[in-house]
Amino acid sequence: MAALKTDRRAPLVVTEQVSQMRQIVWQAQTRGSRVGLVPTMGALHAGHLSLIQAAREQCDFVVVSIFVNPTQFGPQEDFAKYPRNLEVDLKLCGEAGADVVFHPSVETIYPQGFATFVEVAGLSDVLEGKFRPGHFRGVTTVVLKLLNIVPADFAYFGQKDYQQQTIIRRMSAELNLPVEIRVCPTIREPDGLALSSRNVYLNADERRSALALSRCLHRARDQITGGRRDVANIRHEMFDELAKTSRVHAEYATLVHPDTLEEQSEFLPRLVGVVAARVGATRLIDNLIIEA
Ligand code: AMP
Repeated sequence: MAALKTDRRAPLVVTEQVSQMRQIVWQAQTRGSRVGLVPTMGALHAGHLSLIQAAREQCDFVVVSIFVNPTQFGPQEDFAKYPRNLEVDLKLCGEAGADVVFHPSVETIYPQGFATFVEVAGLSDVLEGKFRPGHFRGVTTVVLKLLNIVPADFAYFGQKDYQQQTIIRRMSAELNLPVEIRVCPTIREPDGLALSSRNVYLNADERRSALALSRCLHRARDQITGGRRDVANIRHEMFDELAKTSRVHAEYATLVHPDTLEEQSEFLPRLVGVVAARVGATRLIDNLIIEA
């Protein structure tokens, strides 16, 4: 990865308070600064840092939020043990050029009796939505709240979570949010594994098995760019490739329309390969835009 820009003007500010956060953004915008927001759940890696770096390059003032959002985790999921390391994250945010870190408590975001949710119907029910019911309702609710607390000019998301960025762009358009959503490419390990905060859960054997996700995506891409047009067969081969890998429990591996996320059986010049699997006890996702 290219060296991170570290030409910050002032020391990193960290706040847990909504009112202070709003005031800081208001002051920056009053000075004429374009504000960028990078929402994260912490346990930062080079994928997150690439979003902060993009915001640093494209905006005058950069806010990173660090909030492990309970409403996007199912009851059997890893909310309690999700990796948290604020001290390291703050250091990384500072080095990557953030101006402010917003790190609210769960009670600040969801006070007792909280009852308001926003949902993008349809898109939220397929793929991840099938395996993680309610997940995207939690995501869209927290992102809308974060954008109300940090009324940024630009908000940055990773292509790594393809369905998430599709849903957030749709919410932003349909609710007329005064923000421009920017999507940054997936950062991978040299061997192809997409960076994820959950990769720390993998042992050495699982780490090797996890390569099956990116492998089946890249193979599908090579086949389509090489001229194959039998999309339904390629979809089945993707799933088989995942399913045959030891320690991997495949959930889905398919080719979808880039906007509607509908599974495709016929060739399109632009398709998205999407995969999800449990590798040991760790659930991983990946995707690849395939242009023929
Ligand atoms: P998370 O902390 O997992 O909620 O992710 C925060 C943001 O970082 C989301 O917009 C993700 O899509 C993005 N992100 C996560 N992993 C990567 C990656 N490997 N490359 C690029 N962006 C990523």
